[in-house]
Amino acid sequence: MNQHVTAETAADFHCDVLVVGGGPAGSTLSTLLAQAGRDVVMLEKAHHPRFHIGESLLPANVALLEQLGVRGEVEAIGMPKWGVEFVSPQHAHKAYVEFADAWDKTMPYAWQVRRSDFDEILFRNAAAKGARTFEGRRVRDVAFDDRGAPVSVELDDGARQTWRTKYVVDASGRDTLLAQQFKSKHKNPRHNSSAVYGHFTGAKRLAGKMEGNITIMWFEHGWFWFIPLADGTTSVGVVCWPYYLKARSVPLVEFFRQTIALCPELAGRLADAQLVGDEVHATANYSYSGSIGCGERYLLLGDAYAFIDPVFSSGVYLAMQNAFAGVDVVNATLDRPERAAAARARYKKHLDHGPREFSWFIFRVTNPTMREFFMAPQNPMRVKEALLSLLAGDIYGKTPIWGSVRILKALYYAVSIGHFGRTWRAWQRRRLNIRDVEAPAP
Ligand SMILES: Cc1cc2nc3c(=O)[nH]c(=O)nc-3n(C[C@H](O)[C@H](O)[C@H](O)COP(=O)(O)OP(=O)(O)OC[C@H]3O[C@@H](n4cnc5c(N)ncnc54)[C@H](O)[C@@H]3O)c2cc1C
Repeated sequence: MNQHVTAETAADFHCDVLVVGGGPAGSTLSTLLAQAGRDVVMLEKAHHPRFHIGESLLPANVALLEQLGVRGEVEAIGMPKWGVEFVSPQHAHKAYVEFADAWDKTMPYAWQVRRSDFDEILFRNAAAKGARTFEGRRVRDVAFDDRGAPVSVELDDGARQTWRTKYVVDASGRDTLLAQQFKSKHKNPRHNSSAVYGHFTGAKRLAGKMEGNITIMWFEHGWFWFIPLADGTTSVGVVCWPYYLKARSVPLVEFFRQTIALCPELAGRLADAQLVGDEVHATANYSYSGSIGCGERYLLLGDAYAFIDPVFSSGVYLAMQNAFAGVDVVNATLDRPERAAAARARYKKHLDHGPREFSWFIFRVTNPTMREFFMAPQNPMRVKEALLSLLAGDIYGKTPIWGSVRILKALYYAVSIGHFGRTWRAWQRRRLNIRDVEAPAP
């Protein structure tokens, strides 16, 4: 590769905070720090607008967008999402839930967004609020020394720069820059799935207000998402177990079409639809978390720290919440070092809270007992309202859902024990499903 030192590189690049990655996490933290007058630089390896998967937002995200000052812009590109439709091969009916029925009724909707547009809005907003933002800058290495952190950066043309910063924020998403460097990234032993996805025009959608709802459809080898976007395109993806993806013997586009055919409801909705550009993407083995969330001069957030299965559309929201929580750690480190250790301890708790609460449900979402709960939701002791609040992302504030969440979990265990044979078979099946598979399954 043509790597050379440019005139630009010879200059000394300085900032107080250097943010690696201009996705939702990096852009949010950069905006908040810049708004408070901090000297912040954000480096993004790609150029916005760039493709990204992950298009369904949660209602609790709306307040964060409001605080960043971009709610109107996102609303203008978004498809209103008022709830979730569940489709199960074991049930003749379809189930519909609405966020308006959650514990807190003040956050009834979110949006489905094309991520290239959404991420660009957040990125440009950071610049508008005072962050110095650069695209086409890939961070290659972060070294920590007595004076701060020299950061080695590669430009699109292969040229190199070295930045010097007091503090590094790793928002590099699934590239997991620092976690790779620290060897602190661990594959989740309790979950293992892969995704294949594409976009369709002409898909048959729900009618009226429900048009923008996300649909989750279970099938034998995992589940599908159906996410209607505002421009008429519909994002469709399958999240499947490793054995299923590894057994693929045809090109990915063909495999995707064959997989869709295994779900009659989805096949029906796509009967007259066109796959945009005949383009299909795949992401394999993607649940992980890091053991290091922050240190004396760095913090990790969003996918750079942890990634959980996207069945509840939590990724963007968790990434942005991490950014809001991370501000305190950066400020304490730079302004009140005596408070930094306590701020880091709080932040580490915060980082683990979201993935843990969602994961309890993710690990069980294909279990027949849990599926019953989603297909026929009941509300004794407000368990349905609490679950909907969790699905809306209302897990960091003061909404008192946790007693009812515990009751829901107790009900789950009680029903599972009551159907011991079914539970045992589902558990055995899940153990097989999440195992790594090197060769095609028999
Ligand atoms: C199949 C699938 C479906 C999903 N569905 C949903 C969904 O419906 N709803 C939802 O909320 N979430 C979903 N997610 C998750 C969601 O996409 C992520 O959680 C979210 O994008 C995390 O934001 P982030 O800012 O941490 O990382 P990203 O959005 O990945 O941003 C990271 C940025 O850093 C840049 N970067 C990486 N390395 C470097 C480097 N070395 N130097 C400079 N820049 C760098 C990248 O180019 C990127 O722009 C899904 C994920 C997958 C895989």
